[in-house]
Amino acid sequence: MAIRVRQDERIAAESAFEAAPACDLAAIVQARSVEKRYDTGELQVQALRGVSFTVHHGEMVAIMGPSGSGKTTLLNCLSGLDAIDGGDVLIEGVSLGSMSDDERTDYRAQRMGFVFQFYNLMPVLSAVENVELPLLVSHTPAREARRRALEALEMVGLGARAAHVPEELSGGQRQRVTIARALVNDPAIVWADEPTGDLDSENAQEIVALMRDLNRSHGLTILIVTHDISVGRATDRIVRMVDGQIVDEELLEVAT
Ligand code: ADP
Ligand code: MG
Repeated sequence: MAIRVRQDERIAAESAFEAAPACDLAAIVQARSVEKRYDTGELQVQALRGVSFTVHHGEMVAIMGPSGSGKTTLLNCLSGLDAIDGGDVLIEGVSLGSMSDDERTDYRAQRMGFVFQFYNLMPVLSAVENVELPLLVSHTPAREARRRALEALEMVGLGARAAHVPEELSGGQRQRVTIARALVNDPAIVWADEPTGDLDSENAQEIVALMRDLNRSHGLTILIVTHDISVGRATDRIVRMVDGQIVDEELLEVAT
């Protein structure tokens, strides 16, 4: 009897899944026909023209394309930093558009990490203080925040530099601090906009290798905007944009 109930449940669950084929359980990000316009008075820019794509759990995806093609706009719209003008964005199956501003902000703080080109570190704070800041803002007790911040710095190989302020660190080390800060809340996804754009090629390769390692060893989902093909080649998939649209997707077989 018990077994039959379980089978019935399984069949019911399967048919529910079949009835809703648009619900992709392995997807963490689903963009559907996303439109974004910028209106600067006399000038209207159609920055995204119906962008649809999916990022799966544990994937590392590169968004590439010429300057002005809409890469940053796409990242900001997918992460809910920016509002969209059409279409929909689902994160872990939940529509960003259905959340209030406060809910979206909380969701971002709890489930997302961000890495930008120019670090955005507080110059007067040490590495560990920069990393623990998001935790303190979300009311994690100080001792717990410090422990997790030190752990995140260890993960990026900077445990020994915890007490240094940003100006005492190299560009590559600063970017490691921002990666530690992006990781400290144990996010579901990390968004990185040109994270190697300010680094020489050697440091750029180290940073992308670190991100790849975090992606593989922790199953971290990473979406990385870059115009550097050597960064793109280190990911699972390159999505190419031109003029606000996705024009090509390339699945890569990365050597392990
Ligand atoms: P990318 O990151 O690929 O270089 P962006 O997403 O920054 O491109 O920009 C896409 C288009 O939107 C460009 O034409 C850019 O000029 C325009 N744009 C971006 N941000 C704004 C803004 N805040 N106001 C007006 N136009 C913008
Ligand atoms: Mg950009």
